[in-house]
Amino acid sequence: MIENMSAFASVANQLRRDLAGAAVGRGGGSSAAPASATLVPSRGAVDPKYTWDLESIFPNWEAWEAAFTDLDHGIETYQQYAGTLAKGPGQLLRALKDRDVLGQLSYKVWYYPSLQYDEDQRNNTINARKQRVQLLIAKMQQATSWFNPELLKLPLDTVRGWMHESTELATYRFAIEEVFRLQAHVLNEQGERLISLSDRLGSVPRDSYAALSTADARFPTVTLSTGETTQVTYGQYRKLLSTARAQPDRRLAYEALYDTYAATLNTYATIYNGVMHGEWFEARARGYQTTLDAALFGNNIPTSVVENLIRETKNAIAPFRRYHQLRKRVMKLTDYYLFDALVPIIDFDVRYPYGDVLDWIVEAVSPLGAEYQARVRRAFSERWIDVYENQGKRNGAYSAPVYGANPYMLLNYNDTLDAVFTLAHELGHSMHTMLSHETQPFVYAGYTIFVAEVPSTLNEALLLDFMLQRARTREERIVLLQHAIDGIVGTFHNQVLFADFELEAHRLVERDQPITSEVLSAIYARLLSEYWGEALSPDARAQHTWARIPHFFQSPYYVYQYATCFASTAKLMEEIGCSNAATRQAAVTRYLDLLRSGGSDHPMTLLNNAGVDLSKPETVRAVSAQLDGLVNRLESELG
Ligand SMILES: [Zn+2]
Repeated sequence: MIENMSAFASVANQLRRDLAGAAVGRGGGSSAAPASATLVPSRGAVDPKYTWDLESIFPNWEAWEAAFTDLDHGIETYQQYAGTLAKGPGQLLRALKDRDVLGQLSYKVWYYPSLQYDEDQRNNTINARKQRVQLLIAKMQQATSWFNPELLKLPLDTVRGWMHESTELATYRFAIEEVFRLQAHVLNEQGERLISLSDRLGSVPRDSYAALSTADARFPTVTLSTGETTQVTYGQYRKLLSTARAQPDRRLAYEALYDTYAATLNTYATIYNGVMHGEWFEARARGYQTTLDAALFGNNIPTSVVENLIRETKNAIAPFRRYHQLRKRVMKLTDYYLFDALVPIIDFDVRYPYGDVLDWIVEAVSPLGAEYQARVRRAFSERWIDVYENQGKRNGAYSAPVYGANPYMLLNYNDTLDAVFTLAHELGHSMHTMLSHETQPFVYAGYTIFVAEVPSTLNEALLLDFMLQRARTREERIVLLQHAIDGIVGTFHNQVLFADFELEAHRLVERDQPITSEVLSAIYARLLSEYWGEALSPDARAQHTWARIPHFFQSPYYVYQYATCFASTAKLMEEIGCSNAATRQAAVTRYLDLLRSGGSDHPMTLLNNAGVDLSKPETVRAVSAQLDGLVNRLESELG
């Protein structure tokens, strides 16, 4: 999953490019809850060798304070460039380079308090320092906001002429040309002012969704077959669905949660209508044909990528259905519902102590070469990872791309299989960060979300191959196979269905069609039957699922990116895992070049260079082929 550090993201956005201000991570939902809060140690009780060593950022707070002052001073003196860019290539280059200096420094100044705050979020002294940086970064954004408008006043041909003269300036070619490309949908001053005035109005539907689905939601309490009484919040619902072995208990949780949403379904539909009209308003105001065009323009992604993704996923849906039918059979269920899709097929609990898995991960990534392996070892031996949970620590996991220092990873490692894969996942992000930071000039050091989840999921795929080979028991193989399959089903198929839903709903809005709860539920019901087919038993509640997917309301047209990353990984793995040594070596070289390429071009171009064409059916079908193979193996293990 992706976590945006919005305050910081704006720093790196200076050339309106989505550079790495985002720490790329996983949410906290997947880690098992601690057995008891009293068992969680305080920060001070954790063995330092399992904590990250942040000295590569700053040796101490005094050094951070000095850098903070330098940055503040730099922001003020940067104003001297305002109104001077037309002077010539030398001046433009100086302004760009000085802005890079500020940008680089801001990473370290931001992450030093930010990472330490996550160690114990009850620490208000550090929280105050973090907030000081947020304010400084807002100041920095303001102080450099004149830059793009002034650059755009220069004729592009003149700037191109300058880049022709100066090789140093030519380094910035892609970034500069992007400012001009994105200008196509930027309005005049009056228009931009109107749009910015509408911003707060646009956020009202999103905030309403948050209020209705959390603050105002009345989650009922249910009594399970064990006698245990529990309130079915979303977190409890997920937990029950993935642990309750008795179907009636899962059904109880499902019905309780869905009925909570159904009670205010018309309000959810009205809110969603508001979200979509907000998108449609801005798309039309900026001169886009559709909301999808508007959403994809920033990364220069053709709409055919999303259409191809949806079409080919449906064309090759068979292994997805087969998996659910297999689950139904093995779990001896007469009927199979959405709430039966998460629980483990078999009861088998293996613990994976942190110390045991480090060598496995190094071994698992051996197809990527000795140098890649050596970097992974450094992450372990040089303490780039904050391993265990402690009181007050932020939950979930992430990798933070600290420019000019080591990449740092926060985990809440709890010895589960999930934790092992999360470690491999975050290491994938960190290796991407390292290779990109080392190779690219600062302006292209960050990568887009469109590519970000490729190295993380590819590391997971390599780890799966390795662990399947070393697994000695049938039970362990079954658990591994299910883990891998659930990853594909959850990250790919479910997300494509979501993208399909969003696209259909937005198209209704674009054609001035009414949006009601019946309309939205009818779309969802049809998509469930198109994807799940006979695998799902009839159930009146499932069609209301759209109301409980926060992404639809909070970040429209976002989830498809998980699916495209997954398809890219599946395509890359076909060659990285193939038996022909020459093919394999060429694929690895192209893949590592992709990681080194950072944000130096549009993501589609970078992926194409690595041999992945997301507009082609075969790329999407690689996922189905991979799933098919895994389901076959699972089927034969289960007998
Ligand atoms: Zn990730």
